[in-house]
Amino acid sequence: MKEYHFHKMEKKLKKYMDEDRFIHTQGVMYTACALAMCHNADLAEARLAGLLHDCAKCIPNPKKLKICKRENIPVTDSELASPYLLHAKLGVYIAREKYDVTEREVLQAIRYHTTGRPEMSLLEKIIYIADYIEPGRDKAPNLPQVRRLAFQDLDETMYVILRDTLSYLEGGSGTIDRTTEKAYQYYKEIHERKETSDGYVKENGKACV
Ligand code: FE
Ligand code: FE
Repeated sequence: MKEYHFHKMEKKLKKYMDEDRFIHTQGVMYTACALAMCHNADLAEARLAGLLHDCAKCIPNPKKLKICKRENIPVTDSELASPYLLHAKLGVYIAREKYDVTEREVLQAIRYHTTGRPEMSLLEKIIYIADYIEPGRDKAPNLPQVRRLAFQDLDETMYVILRDTLSYLEGGSGTIDRTTEKAYQYYKEIHERKETSDGYVKENGKACV
């Protein structure tokens, strides 16, 4: 990865964010770093993606839609209904244009940090999960368990977070994105496959290699 001046970027980002969002950003950045250390991911990329994942979050919604129109960024119906969803797509644009980020991996992690998607890369999972478990979060169910699981099994953590997020959204608290549903199906299948192989282990009394 090319050299970035992290502290300069941090200072710049701080100007475009309210205080709470900046504190959350730092929480995500350091949590992403810890997860990268644990799961052998590229530390510098995790740090950069964590820092910039919400770089478009504090743009007012009408301006978000205006930029999308100007830059020919397609807006789905669910994004139109809840423009906050756009900050991930728009974050890619801002990271590229305003922070000169060129690494595709980093841009993809910003792109999918809100909805998730099937077959996420290691870095995408790390940013998605760090966003959910960073120390400032306190609303989600089962946080202590999810935080522990994140340092053991990223796919299983994706399953649990997506499951809990969908049941929260189904309770009428937000718009459900199609990509999130697809992501849930994908990680649910991995979860179920693991459950079956656990059953196999129990039945045969052998350790799984
Ligand atoms: Fe976000
Ligand atoms: Fe965030």
